[in-house]
Amino acid sequence: MTDWKTKAATLYDGSFRPMVIGGQWVAAQSEEVIEARNPADGTLLATVPRGSKADIDKAVAAARKAFDGPWSKWTPFERQNLLLKIAEKFEAEWETLCLSDTLDMGMPIQRTLGNSRRVLGMLRYYAGQAVAVHGATIPNSFPGEIYSQTVREPVGVVGAIIPWNAPIAGSIWKIGPALATGCTVVLKPSEEASLTVLLIAKLMEEAGLPEGVLNIVTGHGAEAGAALAEHPGVDKIVFTGSTATGQAIARAGTVNLKRVSLELGGKSPVIVCRDADIEKAVPVAAMSVFANSGQICIAGSRLFVAREIHDEFTRRVAEFAANLRIGHGIDADTDIGPIISARQADRIAGYLAAGPNEGAEVLTGGTRAEGEDLTGGHFFHPTVFGGVNDDMSIAREEIFGPVISAMPFDDLDEVVTRANATPYGLAAGIFTTHLGTAHRLAHRIKAGSVWVNMYHAIDPAVPFGGMKMSGYGREGGAEHVEEYLETKAIWINA
Ligand code: NAD
Repeated sequence: MTDWKTKAATLYDGSFRPMVIGGQWVAAQSEEVIEARNPADGTLLATVPRGSKADIDKAVAAARKAFDGPWSKWTPFERQNLLLKIAEKFEAEWETLCLSDTLDMGMPIQRTLGNSRRVLGMLRYYAGQAVAVHGATIPNSFPGEIYSQTVREPVGVVGAIIPWNAPIAGSIWKIGPALATGCTVVLKPSEEASLTVLLIAKLMEEAGLPEGVLNIVTGHGAEAGAALAEHPGVDKIVFTGSTATGQAIARAGTVNLKRVSLELGGKSPVIVCRDADIEKAVPVAAMSVFANSGQICIAGSRLFVAREIHDEFTRRVAEFAANLRIGHGIDADTDIGPIISARQADRIAGYLAAGPNEGAEVLTGGTRAEGEDLTGGHFFHPTVFGGVNDDMSIAREEIFGPVISAMPFDDLDEVVTRANATPYGLAAGIFTTHLGTAHRLAHRIKAGSVWVNMYHAIDPAVPFGGMKMSGYGREGGAEHVEEYLETKAIWINA
């Protein structure tokens, strides 16, 4: 069994980690740095460049040079082979990648390790997609020998901006389709968690990725991120993060009408019908929020329970929550790791105060978790609020922390209306043993993903994304690859 603490001590030693532009591992032009600290205890893991507009300019130029240069000559089969090699490399280094993530952003190691099927699957799925892209010959209404056909071309230089809560999957979901289609990438990771993305770029380089195809600029959102979003040399922006930032990015994209895909926030409903299998539903409904300490976009944070079973169900969810183990992500038995930053922790604490102030009842949790082994980090007891109504801030706003707001409902029409009464539309969960109810609810809920008697399933082959203010565009599936392609019509008068 891996001794994570010993392995951790050799991975990061507080030293400077450069970013990569045009195949060169470099500091920021300003030479300024950002500290990468372990959110579990505040120790300094490394420093990374504080990139800004000047660095983004260089990275976009490098990505353009690679796009127009040798990379454009690679056949789809060569790109497929490269993606398969990268997958092999990642498989061999999987523990190191997961450990890096756990140290840098706190996700419990068991959870990061468990994501391997999805991430390695993504790389292999996009390898398959690389050779599946093709156009068509289309009959037309012109007389004579006039042929019309379509060809699919890579969109060009892709700017990718990702949040801190899932750096491995988040970055592969942007880089994979770009490599499959022949695009090049400038990726800006979150200032809160850059280290694993730098490691990913290193592994890709070792697997044979040519220089300039993937450029990483570390830095703050308002500097490097904004410069990338508005850069006229970027053809497409793919963004995952909060709805407010997504709106700013969509506005910035109008400069050159770049293509934009947005994976944004959520306030997802979980609906537990009176015929639900309670035994099975309790842990799934609870972990729909508490996984990754609630720092998940799809968190099922509005728990609607049929009135007949509401009290029993919420009591059992609260008991389940109270038994979760809080600790450092690196401890193999930790269920609830740290919150990423003091700023996020203060936001969560604000909602924990707002709940009771607005009339909600704390069924479990409701406070920060403290203890000798938790000093230097920001930890919370998983919290379940009862007595919540739809107007309370805890029922309306994305908390991005381990907080469930439970509410009773009386009939299915009512719960559909209430579940949809949110600006978001990312995901939903339904628990019922009645097939007809499952179908009816799944079709009426406005969300990009609806899970029935399960939650969290995300697969490389299945589209994932939001409706309404949870964004537009899909990641996963053939639709995802489409977003990295342009269609050109060619007419030939033979
Ligand atoms: P955030 O929006 O603050 O930051 C996301 C990224 O955008 C970071 O890299 C940040 O540096 C950058 N950024 C910030 N301001 C910018 C600007 N003006 N221009 C360009 N880039 C800018 O989000 P966060 O706090 O890192 O992550 C949490 C949010 O992400 C939550 O709302 C969550 O729901 C959402 N999220 C969504 C998904 C999804 O797939 N839908 C997945 C994970 C997280």
